[in-house]
Amino acid sequence: MNKTIFITGASSGIGKATAKLFAAKGWQVIATMRKPENETELKQLANVTLLPLDVTNVEQIKDATQKALALGPVDVVFNNAGYTLLGALEATTDEQLVHQMETNFLGVVRVTQAFIPAFRARRAGLFITTSSSAGLMAFPVSSMYDASKWAIEGWSESLSFELSQFGISIKNIEPGLVATEIGEKSVITTHPEYEALAGKFFAAINNPASPVSTSEQIAEVVYGAATDGTDTLRYV
Ligand code: NDP
Repeated sequence: MNKTIFITGASSGIGKATAKLFAAKGWQVIATMRKPENETELKQLANVTLLPLDVTNVEQIKDATQKALALGPVDVVFNNAGYTLLGALEATTDEQLVHQMETNFLGVVRVTQAFIPAFRARRAGLFITTSSSAGLMAFPVSSMYDASKWAIEGWSESLSFELSQFGISIKNIEPGLVATEIGEKSVITTHPEYEALAGKFFAAINNPASPVSTSEQIAEVVYGAATDGTDTLRYV
């Protein structure tokens, strides 16, 4: 029987490439995004179902989970939605820092929480999250982004202790730089005292010599994580 993957943040980048790859491999794909009405490419694929989901919206999480499970069992949840909040902490508003954690961390937590009962009942299931190299090391002017990904790492390790007894696995993907829309969608705060440091950091990121992966390469890593049958926690 075909397996099913539920993906968050499937409108672009890693999420979209993963939706396309799994669909090509014959999986049923539930591709969620904030504005499915704008999606044209995934809509053409017979084994892809689009659902609206803003991962900061608890009611939408409940609704999308119910709709997905009504279609049949879900084998893999790919928690991928996220964005970068960059800039000095001093220049960051409370609303900005809360929204970063609500999206990159609590969005993952809440989607996972919504699927646990169904996974536990089947004694099977896999949660894969797009963490980041920024979940393993720290970079300047990105303290809240880094914190959101470090939080994913600690939370995942702890959660695997309570879920492994039910045959549920947790895996994290930790890419370095990937060529996606993440740069244009970043929220960047500025402060004159931190411009020199920020400039150095942005120059390093934009250095053409820096290694950059494609979304398709990361999608292959996600596919490997979904199918390799191991309990590996980290895919760096
Ligand atoms: P993109 O900006 O191309 O994709 C991000 C996706 O997340 C989009 O679909 C976006 O939707 C979605 N998203 C953002 N906020 C929300 C929200 N509140 N609810 C639902 N969806 C949301 O970037 P990437 O593909 O690069 O990013 C995917 C993941 O990869 C992120 O978690 C990111 O942190 C991580 N990552 C990226 C790296 C990189 O260098 N690109 C490196 C390491 C990790 P919308 O179109 O509506 O904005």
